[in-house]
Amino acid sequence: MKSALEIAADVRSGASSAVAELERSLSVIAQRNEALNVFLHVDSEGARAAATRVDARVARGEDVGALAGVPVAIKDNLCQVGVPTTCSSRILEGWRPPYSATVVERLVAAGAVVVGKTNLDEFAMGSSTENSAFGPTRNPLDPSRVPGGSSGGSAAAVASDMTSISLGSDTGGSIRQPAALCGLVGVKPTYGLVSRYGLVAFASSLDQVGPFARSVTDAALLLEVIAGHDVRDSTSLPEPAPSLVARVNDGVAGMRIGLVRELVDGADDSVAAAVHAAADALRAAGAEVVDVSIPELGLTLSAYYLIAPAEASSNLARFDGVRYGRRVDADDVTSMMEATRTAGFGAEVKRRIMLGTYALSAGYYDAYYGQALKVRTLTINAFARAYGEVDALLGATTPSVAFKFGEKTDDPMAMYLNDVFTIPTNLAGDPALSVPFATGEEGLPVGVQLLGPGRSEARLFAAARVLEIADGRA
Ligand code: GLN
Repeated sequence: MKSALEIAADVRSGASSAVAELERSLSVIAQRNEALNVFLHVDSEGARAAATRVDARVARGEDVGALAGVPVAIKDNLCQVGVPTTCSSRILEGWRPPYSATVVERLVAAGAVVVGKTNLDEFAMGSSTENSAFGPTRNPLDPSRVPGGSSGGSAAAVASDMTSISLGSDTGGSIRQPAALCGLVGVKPTYGLVSRYGLVAFASSLDQVGPFARSVTDAALLLEVIAGHDVRDSTSLPEPAPSLVARVNDGVAGMRIGLVRELVDGADDSVAAAVHAAADALRAAGAEVVDVSIPELGLTLSAYYLIAPAEASSNLARFDGVRYGRRVDADDVTSMMEATRTAGFGAEVKRRIMLGTYALSAGYYDAYYGQALKVRTLTINAFARAYGEVDALLGATTPSVAFKFGEKTDDPMAMYLNDVFTIPTNLAGDPALSVPFATGEEGLPVGVQLLGPGRSEARLFAAARVLEIADGRA
């Protein structure tokens, strides 16, 4: 399977065509989608028209862009004009957005061909894609196991060779966790680096769109395309996209990296072993790796499960049967909204709305939401202190390798604990990525997490590239 970089080079040079690359992608989807349930919607017609346009531009000698003719899968909480967008929820069934997300516009402007919308946990709430109203996605590496979540479909699209790259969203780990479980590179960018315009909001102060890829270079390439200021997102950083691909081979010589005790403790032995082996590989490449402890990280899971549901309860108030998707008719407006929301939302979404509404209600606000915001500030300060001593941090992405279906669905806490290592950076707004390194139980992939201060993506990619090479993946 070709990388995105190779596809784009071949399409630009005429060695291949956007149409040929798309047909290859569509044929893998046709062979594997039924068993894996990766795509909720494949836009063959729109994609064929887009690929034909790319080829016509190449024929005219135009510069088509960095992703010329590259098929890309996008998570179904990203809007693409006229294409069904469900967030894996019955409440949005039938809705076709009248506009495209900025990241989708940027993909198209760079010559990419969007092939379809991928499955997720409903409204991105979950860690296994089992919360989708349209059935779970299966892990292509072992279909008896989950692909992770909530961007499980986008991870599985790349892991099954349906596409070389895809987009997900990460509020508490939803790109890095499925990347780890599917053996991919997944990146949660600095908050504000990538526009959220056209991403259906879950928890607005935490959500970021980011890339999945098989290689570090492809992930850097995709992030470079989607990053940069957008006037339509008021939280967007007022600066252009950073140069990332050009720096992936910068190496780690002289870099100081902190191995965070709290981001390894509690992980399975095979996962912890992979993190320590990654530390050794970074040392061998010239980095200084030191042990670090950030005790505040122990508080972040609780804070996240107050802040994220609080924001979600507010964001999801708009799904009331009036403007979007599904409506269940009733005698008066209040009963209509109640019936619509009762029928439209799944159990986990309802749980989050109740948790969040409770945490924000008068009398409990200070005790819950207010406390959580204080923990968030402590977390930001703790990371800032750590980055005063080291250039980047290292830990596990997930406590275990991919688990089996149904293993954690009876106990919400067991599911929430999957994100114990990924949530801290979302609270801080800093970037982090997951890169496959070594293997764990049953030969399944393990993800190693690299974290850095705001806007340090280039450094994280360079360190990840060292691990990719040391692991024999490049
Ligand atoms: N698993 C976490 C949750 O359920 C994170 C989800 C995400 O990042 N979208 O909230």
